[in-house]
Amino acid sequence: MTLANGREYLAIPGPSVMPDRVLQAMHRGAPNIYEGALADMVDAMVPDLKAVARTQHNAAIYICNGHGAWEAALTNVLSRGEKVLALCTGRFTHGWADVAEKLGAEAERLDFGSQGTVDEAAFAEAIAADKDHKIKAVLVAHVDTATSIRNDIKALRDILDKAGHPALLCVDCIASLACDVFEMDAWGVDLMVAASQKGLMTPPGLGFVFFNDRAAEARAKADMTTLYWDWTPRADPQFFYQYFGGTAPTHHLFGLREALNMIHEEGLENVWERHRRLSGAVWAAIEAWGQGGPLRFNVEDPGLRSHAVTALSIGRDHGTRLRHWLAENTGVTLGIGLGMYRRDDPEGNGFFRIGHMGHLNTHMVLGALGSIEAGFSALGIDHGRGALEAAARACA
Ligand SMILES: *Cc1c(COP(=O)(O)O)cnc(C)c1O
Repeated sequence: MTLANGREYLAIPGPSVMPDRVLQAMHRGAPNIYEGALADMVDAMVPDLKAVARTQHNAAIYICNGHGAWEAALTNVLSRGEKVLALCTGRFTHGWADVAEKLGAEAERLDFGSQGTVDEAAFAEAIAADKDHKIKAVLVAHVDTATSIRNDIKALRDILDKAGHPALLCVDCIASLACDVFEMDAWGVDLMVAASQKGLMTPPGLGFVFFNDRAAEARAKADMTTLYWDWTPRADPQFFYQYFGGTAPTHHLFGLREALNMIHEEGLENVWERHRRLSGAVWAAIEAWGQGGPLRFNVEDPGLRSHAVTALSIGRDHGTRLRHWLAENTGVTLGIGLGMYRRDDPEGNGFFRIGHMGHLNTHMVLGALGSIEAGFSALGIDHGRGALEAAARACA
C-alpha cells in the first residue's frame, strides 16, 4: 500500500512538469514537413520565442539539449586557440568551459565556489589585466542549477563596458529562462543559450541560441563553425523552417508553440512574479524547518537565489533518504544534490534540491512542502515547527 498513487509532481530542476496542454499539442500524427500548419506555425513562433528572451535580435533553434546549445554557441563565435573567460559559480559554467576546451579554445576559469555569486572585483581585475583583448568571450550561467545561485548579469556588462573590453558576454539561461527576470537586450547580453525542458515546459530536445549583431560579427571570423551548428541559415527567416539541419523536430515544435501560448496568455512578467512568490513560499518553509533541525540553504542571501530551484544541505544521508521516501510515499520527486559533494560525503547524500520552475502553482508547492514535512516525521529528521503555516501565508 502506498499514498503515492495520484498525479506525480516532478520537483526537480529540469525536466520540469509538462502541462497537459503541451502534451495534447504533441499528441498527433506525423505532419507534412514541407508546407501547411507546421511551416506556418514555426514562422510565427520565432517572434514569441524572442519575446521570452527579451531580445529583438536573432534566435536559432536546434535539435539538442542544453549541452548541444553550449557547443552550438561556441562554434559560431570562436576560432581555435582563442580564449574564453569562464565565471564559475557552481557546476554549469565549468561544463561550458569544458566544451570550449574540447573545441580547441583556451579556457581561463575564475571559480567562485558553490555558495556565492561572481565576485565582481575579481572579474574586473581579470578584464583589466587582459590589455590586448585575448579574451573573446565571457561565459557565465545566469542561474547555476546545482547551487541555485543567480548572478547579476547587468553588473558584468557594466564591468566590460567600463573597461572598454570587446569580449562577448555569453549567458547560460537554461535554468532561468521564463522563471527568473532576464532582459537580454536591456542588459547588453551578446549571446544567450537556453533549452526547452525547464521554464519552457516542453520535453528535452530543443536547444536555443539567441545572439545580437556583435555576436553575428564574431561569427563572420570564427573558424570553429560546422555545417550542423552554423546558426546563419537557422536564424534566417527565409531558411529557418526548412533548415533544421535535416528533419524538423516536428512534435517538439508543436509542444513549444503551446508552451509559448501559455506564457504569453499569462504574461511573462506574471510568470516571473509567480516564480518569485512560489519560491518565497518554499523559502519560508525552509527557514522555519531550519530553526529546529539540520536543513540549510546552500545560498544564505535570498537576494542571490534563483526563483527556479533551491539547493539545500541537510547532513549525513538525510538528503537521499528524504528523496527516496518522498518518491515512494508521496508522488513528489525531489532533485539530487548535484556537484555538492564533500570529502565526508563523496556521493552528496546530505544534499538535495527542490525544483520550482515552469508549470507550477500554489497547490503543487504547498503539496510538495507538506510531503517533505511528512518525510521529516517518518524518517525522524529534526525540523522546526510552523513551516507549512509560513508557506501558506507566503501564498496568501
Ligand atoms: C540543465 C542545465 C544545463 C544542461 O542542460 P541539458 O539539457 O541537460 O544539456 C546547462 N546549464 C544550466 C544552467 C542548466 O540548468
